[in-house]
Amino acid sequence: MDIKKIGVVGAGTMGNGIAHVCAMSGFEVVMVDVKDEFLERAIATIGKNLDRMIKKEKITEADKEATLKRIRKTTNLEDVAECDVVVEAVVEDVATKIDVFRKLDATCKKEAILASNTSSISITELAAATSRPDMVIGMHFMNPVPVMKLVEIVKGLQTSDKTYEITHSLAEKLGKTPVLVNDYPGFVSNRVLMPMINEACWALMQGVATKEAIDTVMKLGMAHPMGPFELADLIGLDVCLAIMEVLYEGFSDSKYRPCPLLRNMVKAGYLGRKTKRGFYTYD
Ligand code: NAD
Repeated sequence: MDIKKIGVVGAGTMGNGIAHVCAMSGFEVVMVDVKDEFLERAIATIGKNLDRMIKKEKITEADKEATLKRIRKTTNLEDVAECDVVVEAVVEDVATKIDVFRKLDATCKKEAILASNTSSISITELAAATSRPDMVIGMHFMNPVPVMKLVEIVKGLQTSDKTYEITHSLAEKLGKTPVLVNDYPGFVSNRVLMPMINEACWALMQGVATKEAIDTVMKLGMAHPMGPFELADLIGLDVCLAIMEVLYEGFSDSKYRPCPLLRNMVKAGYLGRKTKRGFYTYD
């Protein structure tokens, strides 16, 4: 399959990064969100990130212009009809994602692959909401997308080998390293990462140490580039909580119960960098 045009649904933290790498790799991109202001914000973020690459002399001003020119923004989901692959990156909520997959299935051409960037929701379940379950797959990019090399390629129960091969090759064309994983809650990355962040929250809540101390232990003691609270703020505390809920429910195992402190932070609207306040505050 000759992929030329890629749809990205959801232009938040991940969607704008996915649109950025697709456009930079020469693909035409149709970026969809529910409000113009979200699309404007995404374009501004992509512009800023490209400026950073210019400063580091990785790309030129002309590359930036060409990249931005390849991204079309729209609030109409039907504009992805001609895309060869659509990557869904809307909020981590099953009902919202199923609704988007149903609409994509009705809108997209029959050869189109429908991918989800979900962190933890079952690809098999999203696939079952469509008439093309063999062409639904997980493409789990890492945050920040332009920087991080890994893409977990998640094969659902019905995903065909052909869909997997095309998606694997697309990830390589985007300059990423794809890793095959099967469809179980949290896949590999979040099944290992999120319980660590959640456990850090329990340690903070129980007064074992301050957040700064816990972050320092993990950075200096375990050679992690970021501490669990710094990372949680980057990912978004609402996203972290949603993933813990999926693990808790998916495995019916109390070891995945979300920490009450994490729940309280989300209730307070302290979602991390995106709201300028999470475990830390940001200007
Ligand atoms: P986000 O809240 O920053 O962005 C989500 C965007 O989706 C918002 O702009 C919202 O307006 C839009 N949206 C909601 N419903 C929509 C709809 N019906 N149609 C079009 N757009 C819609 O969230 P995010 O952090 O970018 O996460 C997106 C997905 O990526 C989630 O599934 C999440 O689990 C996954 N993910 C997140 C991270 C991370 O570090 N944040 C990492 C890997 C994967």
